[in-house]
Amino acid sequence: MPELPEVETVCRGLAPHLEGRRLVRVEQRRPNLRTPFPPRFCERLTGRVVTSLRRRAKYILMHLDDGGVLIAHLGMSGRMIIAPERPDAFDKHDHVVFETDAGTIVTFNDARRFGLMDLTVADALGDHPMLRNLGPEPLGNEFSGPDLARRLAGKITPIKAALLDQSIVAGLGNIYVSEALYRSGILPTRTAASLTAGEVDRLAGAVREVLERAIAAGGSSLRDYRQASGELGYFQHQFAVYDREGEGCPDCDCDRARTGGVQRIVQSGRSTFFCAARQR
Ligand SMILES: [Zn+2]
Repeated sequence: MPELPEVETVCRGLAPHLEGRRLVRVEQRRPNLRTPFPPRFCERLTGRVVTSLRRRAKYILMHLDDGGVLIAHLGMSGRMIIAPERPDAFDKHDHVVFETDAGTIVTFNDARRFGLMDLTVADALGDHPMLRNLGPEPLGNEFSGPDLARRLAGKITPIKAALLDQSIVAGLGNIYVSEALYRSGILPTRTAASLTAGEVDRLAGAVREVLERAIAAGGSSLRDYRQASGELGYFQHQFAVYDREGEGCPDCDCDRARTGGVQRIVQSGRSTFFCAARQR
């Protein structure tokens, strides 16, 4: 499932091909994704110039020269494929095809169809149902230790669940929550309200650090992809604890000590990974 760093990488990979370009043809190859496409979807996009591509949480926002904004979410399996020309045939999971005035073809492919696309206008973007309750961007200036501490105050939910709450911080998913709690040495089962100011500061810094590191890894995959298939959406990334049950974590020899390595527990139906020796 693409997390924030993957979505950021997709935006950065698409931007040079779409920004400043006119969409000369837009094709929708089925009536719906997770939700139906908005009315007159292709018609409203055709002929428009893309003024910018931005990410908000895990949404891709394509701003257009008429004030319109395309909101796209990659869902579980969505990817964007860039090709210099029209392919001979499309895959059955190629659902939306954008053609620019440079002849570039950008295809949205989504096998599981949990992705979605919607259209709105820039003036109403903040009120859109998918965006209006989002907390601050974890890589933005608004996100800080003191701000996070205010948002966590009084919450008796586990800190892991609080960090997955999109109204507290936008765009964090299961992988990077485990990684950030590990980096900051905080047990995922602690209640949010039990964290000290110092711990919240450390946690906010760790959130930023794990995301920035993953985005940097995505950046190197972008340089590689130019020689390869043109697919944007996933890249290889090394995690400290995520999906590493029983292995030693990078900072201690917990796999050989009595703790038995990285632990996996289930919180709200989803796996959490942590090191019982390093996290308190
Ligand atoms: Zn360890």
